[in-house]
Amino acid sequence: ETEKRWLKLYPDQIAKNVYYRADTLPQLLENAAKEYAKHKAIHFMGKEMTFKTLYKKTLKLAAYLQNLGIEKGDRVAVMLPNIPQTVISFYAILQAGAIVVPVNPLYQEREIEFILKDSGAKAVITLDMLYNRVEKVKEQTDLEHIIVTSIKDYLPFPKNIVYPFVQAKKQGKPPIIPSSKSTHLFTQTIKKNYKLKEVSISFEKDIAILQYTGGTTGFPKGVILTHQNLVSNTSMCRQWLYKMEKGKEIMLAVMPLFHVYGLMTVLVLSVMEVYKMILVPRFDATDLLKTIQKQKATIFPGAPTIYIGLMNHPDIKKYDLSSIKGAISGSAPLPVEVIEKFEQKTGGKIVEGYGLTETSPVTHVNFLWDNEIVKGSIGVPWPGTDAAIFSIETGEMLPVGEVGELGIKGPQVMKGYWNNEEETEKVLKDGWLLTGDIAYMDEKGYFYIVDRKKDIIIASGFNIYPREIEEVLYEHPAIMEASVVGIKDPYRGETVKAFVVLQEGMTVTEEELNKYMRSKLASFKVPRIYEFRKELPKTAIGKILRRQLKEESEEINE
Ligand code: AMP
Repeated sequence: ETEKRWLKLYPDQIAKNVYYRADTLPQLLENAAKEYAKHKAIHFMGKEMTFKTLYKKTLKLAAYLQNLGIEKGDRVAVMLPNIPQTVISFYAILQAGAIVVPVNPLYQEREIEFILKDSGAKAVITLDMLYNRVEKVKEQTDLEHIIVTSIKDYLPFPKNIVYPFVQAKKQGKPPIIPSSKSTHLFTQTIKKNYKLKEVSISFEKDIAILQYTGGTTGFPKGVILTHQNLVSNTSMCRQWLYKMEKGKEIMLAVMPLFHVYGLMTVLVLSVMEVYKMILVPRFDATDLLKTIQKQKATIFPGAPTIYIGLMNHPDIKKYDLSSIKGAISGSAPLPVEVIEKFEQKTGGKIVEGYGLTETSPVTHVNFLWDNEIVKGSIGVPWPGTDAAIFSIETGEMLPVGEVGELGIKGPQVMKGYWNNEEETEKVLKDGWLLTGDIAYMDEKGYFYIVDRKKDIIIASGFNIYPREIEEVLYEHPAIMEASVVGIKDPYRGETVKAFVVLQEGMTVTEEELNKYMRSKLASFKVPRIYEFRKELPKTAIGKILRRQLKEESEEINE
């Protein structure tokens, strides 16, 4: 095994004694509801819900799901923004013994269809405003039930907040959901008094979530994460945050809960450690600053785009952000400049961490208290996690300072990709997960990400898979060839650029292409820049050289 030199940097009690909780996710909620019944679990737009109430609602929804025929191991998709129903749905599905399939609510039909089909989800829980989108693909999938909720189920629609789905609202009145055997109103599910049938859940073996991600190659795949994967990663997290107080902290939930980063830190850690979650359905710098000040948030998991958005707010200095004890940035590289600005403007600090869906997700992070933050580094592995650098050419483990592919071993490493042996074998080798990220470790044990092997574009913290966009471009009648790359963007991290070659004698404008792409894909995936070319560079066997296109674009920009 590797020499875990980073362990010397941790205080002894953490380095030598990693304490893992062995409770399944539903048990964590049950414990919180029993021992801390009156503690607040959720804050949403001025209203709060205790752990006891949350637990009761999850039991009801779980029983309702069972009554619909949802059985152990069935998949249930959740396509919701950060609202109380998301938390209820997550735990209810697990209590029923089923598997949660998180789906980004910004997804369009083809993306939804892919995930629903691939996972074989039997039911989906979504918003009224998104109902039509799901209904349209239903026939092509195994969906039997659609459970519909509304933001108004818990609150009046807040006037000052612009939701991503406000568009749907603007187009007319909220959609009328036709009543049928397959559609159910969330409010009704919680009112019914079905009795929950006990389901036995194996901590080690049973799958808790199927999280769709691009992984190390192109098309989205379902990452299989068990109860053990998520709970062990969360246990490591609570140990790293050992100065935080159980039952007392306030967790800012602005990272989407449909991504494993928000899911682990908010949905799991907050329940394990009885923190209050402040649910924020959409990022708006002013609103977020107000929320932090008013709610006195203490833990703030975020991403570079969010911190950059806050740093650029003209009045940031007017807000009191001193309640924050931990601002943690993950999901994409955090520019050093942002860390420094944050320090200057708030007096606090941001620590950068690293992980991927395949590792539930965290593997590395900088120190909050015991050691220096090394800016530009992703920090050191959590105790219980092993990390090493492997040669890209030979696959051998490399010594300190040498650059290669980062590999991870630990209880948080996924079981594999759903129904995809071939891709699983590519990344899980001898117990190591190969991350597809190029990195090195320094003398002390701090790690640095150099670049990523994979071509995933990360714009504003969202993962974008070039191949998926290329496929849509290829579907356009005027397009002969297409290649999509991410190019550097000071605000979003990366921006999507498309290179296209048109069919002989055909024309299409950038505006037309843009409109077409918007009708097919979530807007964050739509290319911001198009370049029309006569031909694209290719390898000998005809593969388009994405990397070369990317380099050419960046040379022009510099
Ligand atoms: P996801 O599976 O969506 O969590 O994406 C994981 C990928 O995000 C990793 O493989 C990295 O390429 C990238 N990533 C996450 N955190 C960082 C970071 N701190 N610095 C650089 N890249 C990161």
